[in-house]
Amino acid sequence: SIQVQHLSKQFGTFAALHDVTLNVPDGQLVALLGPSGSGKTTLLRVIAGLEIPDTGRVLLGGQDITHAGPGGRGIGFVFQHYALFKHLSVFENVAFGLKVKRGGQRPAPPVIRDKVMRLLELVQLDWAAARYPAQLSGGQRQRVALARALAVEPQVLLLDEPFGALDASVRQELRDWLRRLHDEIHLTSIFVTHDQAEALEIADRIVVFNAGQIEQEGTPEEVYDHPATLFTYRFLGKAN
Ligand code: ATP
Repeated sequence: SIQVQHLSKQFGTFAALHDVTLNVPDGQLVALLGPSGSGKTTLLRVIAGLEIPDTGRVLLGGQDITHAGPGGRGIGFVFQHYALFKHLSVFENVAFGLKVKRGGQRPAPPVIRDKVMRLLELVQLDWAAARYPAQLSGGQRQRVALARALAVEPQVLLLDEPFGALDASVRQELRDWLRRLHDEIHLTSIFVTHDQAEALEIADRIVVFNAGQIEQEGTPEEVYDHPATLFTYRFLGKAN
């Protein structure tokens, strides 16, 4: 599980996060929705260890990781333009994730090989192992980025608009695939999206952000059918 408790983060005088408390149980896929600038990315960055909060705590499986470095958290992340290494093959890009595995020794080459191929099968790109990123479509590249993020066997996967730059049919395909993957390996994930249909379709829970605070959270049905505030009602209504 991932728990954030009373997180606040200021940039200068601007409160990007204000007293945010959120609990994501194991196995859930949670969508963060909210207007631009409402703090969604900042929350993911704090959970990932890329920003240190001013106050509050981040707990992973009950353990306080607020001040652990980004490498040691057991968290994988995929951002919208999560660049692959252009000069490395698909295989090498995913293997890179394994080589930087926290704590332990670098695994032996046959172990790396097996593991990378299993990850590539999981994202259905085993056939593309020897290709280079430039030879893949945008959706395929995002799947390689996901395989790389999964290489460290993260307890939690953070996704920031992972499919944002892709066209509608590819998004749908990746969305189905993420949901399936999620159910198969019982990941705990938080993802930011601007696409409400996407949130409605694949999320177990939806968290609506407004000006650095959680405005409402609940199942997709609760949030869409019973918006608790005028803000949620308008925000969801406007984009539909
Ligand atoms: P979007 O949907 O546009 O990605 P968001 O909800 O993810 O927005 P954040 O990226 O979390 O919003 O940003 C929240 C606010 O904090 C924004 O007003 C942004 O300008 C500000 N902010 C974020 N990072 C920094 C930083 N490093 N320095 C100063 N201000 C920042």
